[in-house]
Amino acid sequence: MSKYELPEITYGYNELEPYIDAKTMEIHHTKHHQKYTDMMNTALEKLPKELQDKNIHEILTNINLIPSTLRSAINFNAGGFDNHNLFWNNMTPNGGGQPNGKLSEEISSTFGSFEEFKTFFSTNTASIQGSGWGWLVYNKESNKVEFKSMPNQTSPRTIGLTPLLGLDVWEHAYYLKYQNRRPEYISQWWNIVNWREVENRFNSI
Ligand code: MN
Repeated sequence: MSKYELPEITYGYNELEPYIDAKTMEIHHTKHHQKYTDMMNTALEKLPKELQDKNIHEILTNINLIPSTLRSAINFNAGGFDNHNLFWNNMTPNGGGQPNGKLSEEISSTFGSFEEFKTFFSTNTASIQGSGWGWLVYNKESNKVEFKSMPNQTSPRTIGLTPLLGLDVWEHAYYLKYQNRRPEYISQWWNIVNWREVENRFNSI
């Protein structure tokens, strides 16, 4: 099996300033994301061959096929690997604003308006107990977008949801700059959301 490598980020660690500071970005990427990647590789090596060769999205979507002795490690570390890939791409130095097109329509259909979506997402992500992520997801059962909070590194894929936009609210994502002020981190983060990327993700489902 070929090992996964830490994906590169397409912008510099300092380019999301002042919303996310360079030191937080550097540690988050080179230490935290690296560790999920390494631990995922270690767990994948122990899987039966036919499972090893499946891609990470498929593995997370079918997490119940993973032997029970490895399921927790794969859920956490492959989830962490995938979540952070999405997270770096969710953000851009020239971000913010609003989604366009079909995604914009779907957000308004579910939440009432873009502003109501932002408020709902912010409030419910701020109130996650302990470590986790707030997500805008696509639910293929209802054919709707919705909000879902997930604990720790558990991927929305593990419960049949397709992640569109995710916000990491582990303390490692914001503590250096914002300390205990998670709601302030969340309100600032909207300035760097890469809506073009989120639209592409939605349009390619
Ligand atoms: Mn993180």
